[in-house]
Amino acid sequence: MAKITLENLAHSYLPNPKSDDDYALKELNHDWVDGEAYALLGSSGCGKSTLLNIISGLLHPSQGRILFNDRDVTMEPTTQRNIAQVFQFPVVYDTMTVHDNLAFPLRNRGADPAYIKERVQQIAAMIGMEATLGHKARGLTADAKQKISLGRGMVREDVNALLFDEPLTVIDPHMKWELRTQLKSLHHEFGHTMIYVTHDQTEALTFADKVVVMYDGRVVQMGTPQELFETPAHTFVGYFIGSPGMNVLSAEVTGNTALIGGTEIALGKGYGSPKGKVELGVRPEFTALVAGNEGLPVTIKRVEDVGRHKIVRADFQGTEINILAEEGANISPDMNRVVFDTAGVNVYSDSWRVPPQGA
Ligand code: ADP
Ligand code: MG
Repeated sequence: MAKITLENLAHSYLPNPKSDDDYALKELNHDWVDGEAYALLGSSGCGKSTLLNIISGLLHPSQGRILFNDRDVTMEPTTQRNIAQVFQFPVVYDTMTVHDNLAFPLRNRGADPAYIKERVQQIAAMIGMEATLGHKARGLTADAKQKISLGRGMVREDVNALLFDEPLTVIDPHMKWELRTQLKSLHHEFGHTMIYVTHDQTEALTFADKVVVMYDGRVVQMGTPQELFETPAHTFVGYFIGSPGMNVLSAEVTGNTALIGGTEIALGKGYGSPKGKVELGVRPEFTALVAGNEGLPVTIKRVEDVGRHKIVRADFQGTEINILAEEGANISPDMNRVVFDTAGVNVYSDSWRVPPQGA
């Protein structure tokens, strides 16, 4: 097991990158703590696989270093890094049985046959394939093949890290939940450093202790689910995580007051005078619809009942504001203002969060 350090790391697939735009991975300094379970979350094309493949050694970075427990492995091939990686699409040996597919990484390392037998049984139980151990992989469903891939990734106990690149994409939803639970218990049992790539926030938030959010080739925030919820470091994090995501409104901010489309809002904390494009971020959970003349004037567009609560879609001068209301809340026509709970308001300058003064 290892701590993994990325030092001034960057990658471009182009031979002569010039601007930032030419980099699939922008310069990055980051530590992955030994034994933690991380989710790497971001939309398609933001650089997740690029980063994972650099850690495993499938890809050599155009710049920077990778250290395992402070040892430079940048030039080492995958085999020497002692890493297990599971890909989005199954990689199985069709002519081998399920058993032999699972045993492969252990045999490769010359493990004891008795141990192999026992360990393969354990893994087969985890992925629910004990009954098919004797079958050839050829002819199995994509689902089953992906489970074999996953199992092969988990079979070795002595790896430095386990990397999963959207491994459950082709798996049906119920099995997904079950396999994710298995991965979590594997983590508790062995304490491997794990990086689990996904574009699905639910998957990320339920799997990991720490979620690393990527956007456009950058890591924009690393934090606990609570940190990502309460203090999104970048408007993208606020928008991408949460359902619906954070409301983002253009504002002028001076000290502890914001001016939004002509209405003054008290912020509760001081922010000086942030420069650039200034915005206020407020999650729907921290808004309320009221009657009266306090708050932002809005028009209700529609109310969605999603079971545990209601989502009110309102319009404020052409910008949609989502408000969360309790399931039993009575939404009356005279409720034409939205107010914010200042505890849940964040200020952004050029998309990055401005910490309040004294914080
Ligand atoms: P993700 O895994 O988050 O979907 P990737 O790391 O696969 O993102 O891709 C990041 C960016 O790099 C994308 O713009 C993608 O088109 C580009 N890219 C990925 N692989 C290659 C490649 N082999 N050659 C050129 N460009 C690539
Ligand atoms: Mg990918």
